[in-house]
Amino acid sequence: RQQERLNTETQLRRALDNGEFHLVYQPQVELRTGRVLYAEALVRWRNPQLGEMRPDHFIDLAETTGDIIRIGNWVLQEACTQMRRWREAGLPVHRVAVNVSYRQFTGDNLGESVRRVLEQTGLPGSALELELTERVLVDDTPDTLDVFDQLRRLGVQLSIDDFGEGYSALNYLRRLPIHALKLSQLFLKGVPGKPSDMAICQAVAGIATSLGLDVVAEGVETEAQRDFLLRLGVKVGQGFLFAPGLLPGEFAKRVAAQQEQA
Ligand code: C2E
Ligand code: MG
Ligand code: MG
Repeated sequence: RQQERLNTETQLRRALDNGEFHLVYQPQVELRTGRVLYAEALVRWRNPQLGEMRPDHFIDLAETTGDIIRIGNWVLQEACTQMRRWREAGLPVHRVAVNVSYRQFTGDNLGESVRRVLEQTGLPGSALELELTERVLVDDTPDTLDVFDQLRRLGVQLSIDDFGEGYSALNYLRRLPIHALKLSQLFLKGVPGKPSDMAICQAVAGIATSLGLDVVAEGVETEAQRDFLLRLGVKVGQGFLFAPGLLPGEFAKRVAAQQEQA
């Protein structure tokens, strides 16, 4: 196992320079109609030796080695460049969401990287959303608060990914410029049928509503889940019921098709 890990580590270090990463985009849709509103960028790693890998297999490692900083910056740059192309093509994609690691918050000047990318691509801050995990909030040093402040001034949207899975210290929700909570798919899995999971979904939707935050449901796989969410007042979601992560061309085709229907 050690050998394998070492090998993956070596491959990972060279992956960026070898152009082995690409992004897929999962539609975030209006649950009622299925209309695509936004996109979440998800990284994929295709290595000649190791094959195609999902982020679950390498993000942790990249966080440990520190490679995540460079990879994360590449993802940010690539997603914004793609967003720029869609806008130039007249496609109504309102925002792209990018996952950021806690390491990007603490290790690097994230505020400055985001500012530069927005400037280079000519996008307004409102066209970009950053998805953070609660891990970021565990060590909210003065530096972290500073990054939040810079991002707020850039007009970037911030959401908490996998909400409910982690530390869920609710205190930060009113202190930090958070716009949305992403209801973890962990809980949606138990819908319908598992009363405790359904109760958590309801509670998360309630917290969001009370605090004036948006909710995005992840991992929507069935009509029953969609109906349940609509009854809770959750308006936006993503999941295999609508689409998995799509290559940029496929994503554009979908949005274009819905534009023709309108
Ligand atoms: P996430 O941000 O919570 O993304 C949701 C994950 O669930 C994605 O897996 C997506 O493909 C998958 N998914 C979407 N709809 C469904 C569904 O209906 N059912 C089920 N079972 N799964 C669904 P993926 O792409 O493998 O990404 C896994 C995680 O890796 C992400 O979770 C995110 O935390 C992380 N990640 C992905 N891209 C990046 C990135 O560029 N940077 C960083 N730091 N992390 C990333
Ligand atoms: Mg995410
Ligand atoms: Mg998630």
